[in-house]
Amino acid sequence: MPGKAQTRSRMGYTARGCNAAWRKKTPFHVLLIPVRDTKPHMSTLRIASRLIAYTWAAPNTALGALAGLAMLCLGGRLRFVAGVAEFHGGWAGRLIAALPRPICFGAMTLGHVILGTSGNGLAVLREHEHVHVRQYEQWGMFFLPAYALSSVWQVMHGRCGYRSNFFERQAYAVEARQKSQPDPSFRRAAVGHR
Ligand SMILES: [Zn+2]
Repeated sequence: MPGKAQTRSRMGYTARGCNAAWRKKTPFHVLLIPVRDTKPHMSTLRIASRLIAYTWAAPNTALGALAGLAMLCLGGRLRFVAGVAEFHGGWAGRLIAALPRPICFGAMTLGHVILGTSGNGLAVLREHEHVHVRQYEQWGMFFLPAYALSSVWQVMHGRCGYRSNFFERQAYAVEARQKSQPDPSFRRAAVGHR
């Protein structure tokens, strides 16, 4: 009969084995990576806060998922990065990229979904978009109305509704700070943090 430590060890091995097998079977495993794998010592409080953040942003995420599914139907692709679904490319991506300024955009965030015109473009814009992900986690369903109000306010005062928007200024400031970090591991950690 195995000793206590041996049993624990075997159970640990079995749990990891099941987890690895399960990962290969579902594309959604990556949503759990920040919680279960990359931060093994994450506290219960941290896990609870992550679940609340995902739930709080869920209405916007659902909107983004619908738009993302439409992109997939038009030849787009899907990948998960740091707990966020990234839809990109396809006919929709090319169409958005071809729109005239200021309508065209490189990427748009809706909750835990980022819609991008191309995979390469997303790699460049990811840090900025992840700031918006955190804003959605803070504001939940109030984010879009608050964003629109901020744009209207800036336009009413003669400023650009996009670059002067409170949320955009915050995103550009964080993005600039992260890009100025010489240590790439810090930048990776900053992107993964939510
Ligand atoms: Zn932005």
